[in-house]
Amino acid sequence: MTDYDFDLFVIGAGSGGVRASRIAAGHGARVAVAEEFRVGGTCVIRGCVPKKLLVYGAHFAEDLVDARRFGWRLEGKSFDWPTLRDNVLAEVDRLNGIYENTLDSHKVTIFHDRAVFIDPHTLDVGGKRITAGRILIATGARPTVPALPGADLGITSNEVFHLETLPKKVVIAGGGYIANEFAGIFHELGVSVTLVNRGDQILRGWDTALRDRLLTISMTKGINFKFNHSLKSIEKIETGVRVNFDDDEAIEADLLLWAVGRRPNVEGLGLDVAGVELDERGAIRVDADSGTNVPHIHAVGDVTDRIQLTPIAIREGHAYADTVFGNKPTRVDYDCVPSAVFSNPPLGSVGLSEGQARNTLGPVRVYTSDFRPMRNVLAGRNERALYKLVVDEATGKVVGAHMIGPDAPEVLQAVAIAIKAGLTKAQFDETVALHPTMAEELVLMR
Ligand code: NDP
Repeated sequence: MTDYDFDLFVIGAGSGGVRASRIAAGHGARVAVAEEFRVGGTCVIRGCVPKKLLVYGAHFAEDLVDARRFGWRLEGKSFDWPTLRDNVLAEVDRLNGIYENTLDSHKVTIFHDRAVFIDPHTLDVGGKRITAGRILIATGARPTVPALPGADLGITSNEVFHLETLPKKVVIAGGGYIANEFAGIFHELGVSVTLVNRGDQILRGWDTALRDRLLTISMTKGINFKFNHSLKSIEKIETGVRVNFDDDEAIEADLLLWAVGRRPNVEGLGLDVAGVELDERGAIRVDADSGTNVPHIHAVGDVTDRIQLTPIAIREGHAYADTVFGNKPTRVDYDCVPSAVFSNPPLGSVGLSEGQARNTLGPVRVYTSDFRPMRNVLAGRNERALYKLVVDEATGKVVGAHMIGPDAPEVLQAVAIAIKAGLTKAQFDETVALHPTMAEELVLMR
C-alpha cells in the first residue's frame, strides 16, 4: 500500500468515521479523514448530544412545578431560550474539539473539505488529488425534506438547535423518534405543538402498549396530534407558515419542523466513478463486514442504513479497522440492539416486541407492570409508567424488554445486558429487588 498517499482514507468524520480512523491509525495505518462540516458528525453536532441536553433543559419545566409538592417555593421563575441554546452549543463546541484532538493525537490527517472520487483509489479533496489503498465511506445521513411546494420554509433537526427565538406554535411533520422527542422538548418549553402524521400511529415498530401510553400521556399534557394527514404545501405568511393538508385543512404556525426520516448521504461523492453500488433504498450496499461491491471500499454507519444509531456506527467503524488493519477479524452483532426515544416520558426497548415474538417464536408469555412512579405520586402527577417483559414459553428466556417512564432508557440499558446474555424469567425472579426503585419492577413481575 506504500504507493498511495494514505493506507486508509475515511470520508466523513462522524461517529463511525472517527472511530475507524482512530483504531486503524492505532494499528499503524497512515490515515486521513475528510470532513466538510464539523468533526463529530450528526450525533455530536446536531443530533443525540444537543438533543439530550435540550431534553434535560426542558424537563425543568415539570420538575419546577412538581417541586412545590416537595416543599419548594420558587417565585418568579422564568425561562431564557438563548441561555439554554448557547450553553448547549458551547458544549457541542467542546466535544467537537475533543474529537479533533483525538484524531490529532492518533496522527490522523484531517482535511476540512469535501472528498469526491476521481477514480476508485483517488479522491479530489478540496482541489487536491489524494490516493489511498483503502477507502471508507462514513458520510452519514441527512433529514428528508419531501418535495412539496414550499417545503424549504420548514426547518429540520439540523437547524432546530440554532433557533433565534423560541416559536409560540410549531407543527412537527412525522411521528417517529425526532418528532416525539421535539414534541416533548417544545411542549415543556411552553410552545404549542401539533404533530402531524401520515398514518394513524406514532413510533412504528415499537411495542403497541408503549406507543399507546406515550400517545395518551402526550395528549393529556396538551400536545396535539393530527393523524392520517399528509402535507400538501407550505406557504409563507406574516407570522410564519401556513401548512396545507391534502384534505384542504390548514394550520398556521411560527415554525414547521420536518421529522420524516433520514436518507443516506450518497450524492456528489462520485460513487458512480468508483463503481460503488447502492441498494433499492438508496443506501450503500454492504456485506456483513461493511464491504461494498468494490473490494477496497467499505462503508459504515447511516450511509448504509442498517440501524441508524450512533453506537452501531461506532461498532461498524471499529470492527472494520480491527478486521482490515488490526488482523483481528470482527463482525458487528446486530442482535438485541437497545434503543430509546427521549420523549417525555422516554421509552426504551430491547429485543422482540410482543408481536414480533409471537410471529417468530410462537407461544410467548408477557409480563407487565403498570405503575405510578413514587415521585409522580407525591407530585400529584397522574402519569403511569409501563414495563413489559416478553418471555419465550419454550425456553423461559426473556426475549424482549420494553418500558416507558421516568429514566426508562437508563433502566433499559442495564436490563439489555441480561437479555443479551439470554437470561430466563426465573433468573430475573431470583434477583432480589432493590427497593424503592422503579427498576425493581423488573424482578417483581409475576
Ligand atoms: P423515523 O424513521 O423515526 O420516523 C419517520 C416518521 O416520518 C414516521 O412517522 C413516518 O411515518 C413519517 N414519514 C416518513 N416518510 C414520510 C413522508 N414522505 N411523508 C410524511 N411522513 C413520512 O425518522 P426520524 O426522522 O424521526 O429519525 C430518523 C432515524 O434517526 C430514526 O429512525 C433513528 O434510527 C434515528 N434517531 C434515533 C434517535 C434515538 O436513538 N433516540 C433520535 C433521533 C433519530 P410512517 O410510520 O407512516 O412510516
